[in-house]
Amino acid sequence: MSAPENTLPQSPNLHPPIAMTKPTTSLQRRRSPLAASSYQLQTLAAIDLSQTPHQGDFAATLAVHDWHSLAPAPLEIFQINIGKLCNMTCRHCHVDAGPDRTQENMDRATIDACLDALDQTTAHTVDITGGAPELNPHFRYLVDQCVARGKHIIDRCNLTVLLLPRMQDLPEWLAERQVEVVCSLPHYRQRNTDAQRGDGAFEQSIVALRRLNAAGYGKGDPQRPLTLMSNPVGAFLANGQAKLEQEWKAGLAKHQGVTFDRLITLNNMPISRYLEWLEQSGNLQAYLELLVNSFNPGTIRGLMCRNTLSISWDGRLFDCDFNQMLDLELQQPDGKRPHIRDFDPKLLAKRQIVTDRHCFGCTAGAGSSCGGALA
Ligand code: SF4
Ligand code: SF4
Repeated sequence: MSAPENTLPQSPNLHPPIAMTKPTTSLQRRRSPLAASSYQLQTLAAIDLSQTPHQGDFAATLAVHDWHSLAPAPLEIFQINIGKLCNMTCRHCHVDAGPDRTQENMDRATIDACLDALDQTTAHTVDITGGAPELNPHFRYLVDQCVARGKHIIDRCNLTVLLLPRMQDLPEWLAERQVEVVCSLPHYRQRNTDAQRGDGAFEQSIVALRRLNAAGYGKGDPQRPLTLMSNPVGAFLANGQAKLEQEWKAGLAKHQGVTFDRLITLNNMPISRYLEWLEQSGNLQAYLELLVNSFNPGTIRGLMCRNTLSISWDGRLFDCDFNQMLDLELQQPDGKRPHIRDFDPKLLAKRQIVTDRHCFGCTAGAGSSCGGALA
């Protein structure tokens, strides 16, 4: 099987994306050992990277490039992960989201605590993610509160959620509030998208994109920006974001009659269900080697953990969404791991960012972040 069109094979040891062919259920539902973040960290730590530069030690790799610690830059983005509930169960999901994750949903009190914290910062953007964040009963309240504060708002949308009966009005509702919609779509061709998200996911995504277009999204209007977000369908690095954007725009317009404004590409993080897939497909060792060997120092300054604060559904604070999924809570200089209720921006600005082996996913190749490539 050839590599998917949006990626290039980077190592002869990598297996083709043959096993990424079906949706799954959550690790938690299957009581998989990988449902525990500690087990994921142990799994990554146990990989023999002695043949790679600095033996796969992320901190040592940074130090060689004169970054003896990773410190935050001024806070720009409040990323609020309002729950793990999702209408889908994609094979590569780093959140282990799914329809069974009904317990992990941010409540109103925690949302209000986030808003109180937001008011203590100069962050210009609120990035709302999940799961499918629209399924949280307080999603619209949160958006309206951020609109009232004049923030740029991002809704990280999986597209298919827009087809649920109670979401019929959502494209117009978001458009009225000038919310940027960042939609995950593995590929502009059906085969690759369905391989990662399940049969029918591509068709539903196209219907959702048409609804967003009808609401004014994806037509060059800066008040209705529609961004597509793609990650490789297999054990490869995201590659050539700018070139791919042109290819995707042409492909989606020609074959589906839909338009969008911007494409961002992300590397898959070796955590959660993607980690499970790497193990099961025999790609884990080679993928980690690929990430370490592809370390790009030009990505460090722009790492999203430097300008973003990540908040979990239960109000814990993290340097990024990936650390959140690994339960690597951020640590203040006083040693405390604060809750959003105890938000202290001055102390947080002096912290050191928590890193581990998974961080090579952000620094490989062109780099990777919630805003796409970094270099
Ligand atoms: S749509 Fe996103 S959050 Fe939901 S299962 Fe897929 S990757 Fe995870
Ligand atoms: S996973 Fe990426 S964004 Fe998160 S702390 Fe590591 S380098 Fe930073």
